[in-house]
Amino acid sequence: MSKNKALIELTDKFGAKNYHPLPIVISKAEGVWVEDADGNRYMDMLSAYSALNHGHRHPRLIQALKDQADKVTLTSRAFHNDQLGAFYEKVAELTGKEMVLPMNTGAEAVETAIKAARRWAYNVKKIADNQAEIIVCEDNFHGRTITAVSLSSNDEYKRGFGPLTPGFKVIPYGDLEALKAAITPNTAAFMLEPIQGEAGVIVPPEGFLSEAREICRENNVLFIADEIQTGFGRTGQLFACDWEGVKPDMYIMGKALGGGVMPISAVAADKEIMGVFEPGSHGSTFGGNPLACAVAIAALDVLLEEELPTRSRELGEYFINELRKIENPIIKEVRGKGLFIGMELHEAARPYCEALMQEGLLCKETHDNTIRFAPPLTITQAELDLALEKVRKIIAK
Ligand code: PLP
Repeated sequence: MSKNKALIELTDKFGAKNYHPLPIVISKAEGVWVEDADGNRYMDMLSAYSALNHGHRHPRLIQALKDQADKVTLTSRAFHNDQLGAFYEKVAELTGKEMVLPMNTGAEAVETAIKAARRWAYNVKKIADNQAEIIVCEDNFHGRTITAVSLSSNDEYKRGFGPLTPGFKVIPYGDLEALKAAITPNTAAFMLEPIQGEAGVIVPPEGFLSEAREICRENNVLFIADEIQTGFGRTGQLFACDWEGVKPDMYIMGKALGGGVMPISAVAADKEIMGVFEPGSHGSTFGGNPLACAVAIAALDVLLEEELPTRSRELGEYFINELRKIENPIIKEVRGKGLFIGMELHEAARPYCEALMQEGLLCKETHDNTIRFAPPLTITQAELDLALEKVRKIIAK
């Protein structure tokens, strides 16, 4: 039996079945390339759902990890550690915000933003206790906690997990009139992905972000951008909101913040909002740990020094144009920004992802009919050309 097959059987024997992975076991990786347990090489075009913007095992991030591992890895927030301040400073500088709160996963950062928005609504906006509402968008994806699925419009994410968290209103994505109509005196915030990732790389109509931001400002409603998947260069700007010059009241960040090496997430906002937390009101044992902070500091440095947002913009434009030239009536639409691209088909995308895997290209279907192409932003044009050859072979008719 191949090593791959034996490892999959072991995983299947004991693991809960909450994922349906492609049948490949990755056992080594470097840059854009991964190797399976039997020594076959593949190009990674998923980047762990955009957590690997820096590529696998970027040498500077691995060095930062090793250096910090030799000093101290975990302190808890019962004590200070010598990496946290520098991490805060970098995130504050990049976002232009006054305060930062660190967590570990994206979903925890989303929870943090919702807590901050609700407290702000009661303490600052003076909404009556327990009446705060948050507006979200249809087909959103903000994570898998009970609250994150409560505000989802996808029944499959919620089925059997009730009772769910109240206090959310869902509007169609990209619909400014619906946003205006949904706002009441009890509205605390509007939370959205500036490009919807899990929904299938859905880019909102031009002007939606900036106009929605303005509507929020006029109504004293917080504009919260979930940049967990779109942030840190993925869409060709540092943040996807930058495409429309939008500065949200709150940034939610995760994934690539840890360079694909450590889980670390954060929320950044000004004092008026983040100041609502006092000691004991929120926290996490691992949030802000020195190992993750040291890696995140290096990840942010590399992001800027290697100009990954610009690479993403330029290579993304090339890649999307080439993908659009592929002719096959099964292709419904190719859309995206930077190296964040969805190819929607008129039929299920999974068999195509399986065929691409056989060709040595890893990507994953999202929302049944869409193939998401999101390679590490460190990918070269030659590597993209190689990927294009494989995509053409499987998809061109
Ligand atoms: N928000 C967005 C926009 C995401 O894309 C994701 C993950 O895909 C999350 C939140 C949840 O992040 P995590 O899986 O780290 O909890």
